[in-house]
Amino acid sequence: MRNTLHAALALAAAATLSPAAYAQNTMEQQYSSWPSYDGDDLELKVDDAGTHFTLWSPSAEGAEVLIYSSDRNTAAEDTLIMKRAERGTWRVSVPEKLYGKFYTFAVTVDGKRLAETPGVWAKATGTNGMRAAIIDLDSTDPEGWNNDRGPKLANITDAVIYEMHHRDFSIDPSSGIVHKGKFLALTEPGTSSPLGAKTGIEHLKELGITHVHILPSYDYNSVDEANLQTNGYNWGYDPFNYNTPEGSYSTDPANPKARISEMKQMVKALHDAGIGVVMDVVYNHTANNDDSNFSLTAPGYYYRHRADGSYSDASGCGNETASERQQMRDFIVNSVKYWADEYHIDGFRFDLMAIHDIETMNEVAAELKKINPSIFVYGEGWTAGDSPLPVERRALKENVDKMNGISVFSDDLRDAVKGHYSNAADRGFATGKPGNEETVKIGIVASTAHPQVDYSKGNNSKFAYAGAPTEIINYVSCHDDLTLTDKLAKSMPGSSEAERQRAARLAQTIVFTSQGTPFMFAGEEVFRDKKGVHNSYKSPDSINAIDWTLKTKNADQFAYYKGLIALRKAHPAFRMTTADEIARNIVFDKVSAPNVISYSIRNNANGDAWREIKLVFNGSDEAYTTKIPKGKWIIVARDGNINPDGMGTFEGGKISVEPTSALILARE
Ligand code: CA
Repeated sequence: MRNTLHAALALAAAATLSPAAYAQNTMEQQYSSWPSYDGDDLELKVDDAGTHFTLWSPSAEGAEVLIYSSDRNTAAEDTLIMKRAERGTWRVSVPEKLYGKFYTFAVTVDGKRLAETPGVWAKATGTNGMRAAIIDLDSTDPEGWNNDRGPKLANITDAVIYEMHHRDFSIDPSSGIVHKGKFLALTEPGTSSPLGAKTGIEHLKELGITHVHILPSYDYNSVDEANLQTNGYNWGYDPFNYNTPEGSYSTDPANPKARISEMKQMVKALHDAGIGVVMDVVYNHTANNDDSNFSLTAPGYYYRHRADGSYSDASGCGNETASERQQMRDFIVNSVKYWADEYHIDGFRFDLMAIHDIETMNEVAAELKKINPSIFVYGEGWTAGDSPLPVERRALKENVDKMNGISVFSDDLRDAVKGHYSNAADRGFATGKPGNEETVKIGIVASTAHPQVDYSKGNNSKFAYAGAPTEIINYVSCHDDLTLTDKLAKSMPGSSEAERQRAARLAQTIVFTSQGTPFMFAGEEVFRDKKGVHNSYKSPDSINAIDWTLKTKNADQFAYYKGLIALRKAHPAFRMTTADEIARNIVFDKVSAPNVISYSIRNNANGDAWREIKLVFNGSDEAYTTKIPKGKWIIVARDGNINPDGMGTFEGGKISVEPTSALILARE
């Protein structure tokens, strides 16, 4: 087992295999021959017999544990020599419970002692995650934790997902929140802006979303936790310790218990408000290459490589992990299980999910469902670069139907509604560009097969890749790329803010009435922008923070979003769960005008109280007149206004759908 990577490289140099064949055969075989170990005592276990360390490092020639009295700047007070044990592990125990101490591992490979590492399974760390901490996890549980439960969901399509960054949400003075930018921000009741609008958790309750999706909240690399005053902002897509919370979101990064306890308090406060918590997880790459915790415990094994031995880079961040290898697969599965068990997390969003293999993602979903049937998993069904992993094994959007209990983001609906994500000036259906109608229809039916939808006219995918609407997440913006507000400003030069707000309402009406699961970026409901910055991953608060005075300035916009969410939650017709139901109950009307889509949801779909819902989307700048069958219709949305309880009635006949607006009618 020793020197496997180097043996593989020597073989490659001598062999005449093509690079692809090499990558698929030689190196893959070398690593797949390594033994794996997924015992729950990996790295640290404390019990009545003492403190036990177990490190998985098959290629090491030696391994040791260094014990420290503090989280940094002190010399080791003890060094424990580990002994080789079963299945690639090294072990050492001491008879005392070392609570309060810190530790690192150091392994020797090829005669070289590698840098110290907290390991890959540190569940508590001090400042900047450099040393793992030995604590009693039970002591971090908030009061009532044993009875804490997230919201129960029958299907993911019942969720309304709100994607937020901790700092965006609470750092602005207008949030009125004490613990700005911290986990605890979401535990503060009764906060408001200087203009009297609800903020924080009260705002979330008022808006009506069901799940908060928090951007990376595991310990990431970029923000210096020892110097928080000068090192402000990062999205956190640079993982360092996967199994401990990020220190900069705690009130005391040096205290290992603080970040854990405070994140649990956040989860509990949201659960008490009836809101679930989805974690954004980034197992597809690490912040560092040779210096990552993976590389410092088992060099080479956890990553995919090119034929020349360099790191392959499907993440665009310098490396990509190898989920198809048993120890990496077990790591991902056990890590999400840990977050679900220990932190009561209700869902996971996988960054660049297609870097992972389908088998791993299926195991993730299956194992999580055993813990909590309401947990859901979704991800980006694409990579950021090419990978040695064969396309048919990748957890791609187009492969979603080969997965069970996994959903993918629909870039089809996203780009068709607002214009292409990477071309700022490009418009979409909601902003008057013809030619996107069929792709919007693909979004409406959640990429399932429908007799009236012609996938050959789709802008992105050309076939009905989803087997069910539960496999699709619909959105028109997220943390990536321009916010919807900025996209509209860049693609509608010369427009008024009122016109752009109308376009945003139409765009989101399409998202929230489409089959699949709706997803929105925090602050869109108050028409927040990011001053035109499309990649704000390390931009200052002046770009990223939500200004909560906008909630008062744009009160009508907020009211519209709130109404839209209430409409969706009150009507199961928007939340069908099978492709058959969609094909049977959704009927598109023949429309000759460009930038208009008209359809009905019929048959009291999915048990809805409404027998028929008529939706007409007019993305053009001219009014569209349509004819509605005679009947007793409730007007639900018209001309930029919405009310799920109705805004008067209509007897049928001719009706005008104003430019850039949605008409929604319903009858019982
Ligand atoms: Ca950190």
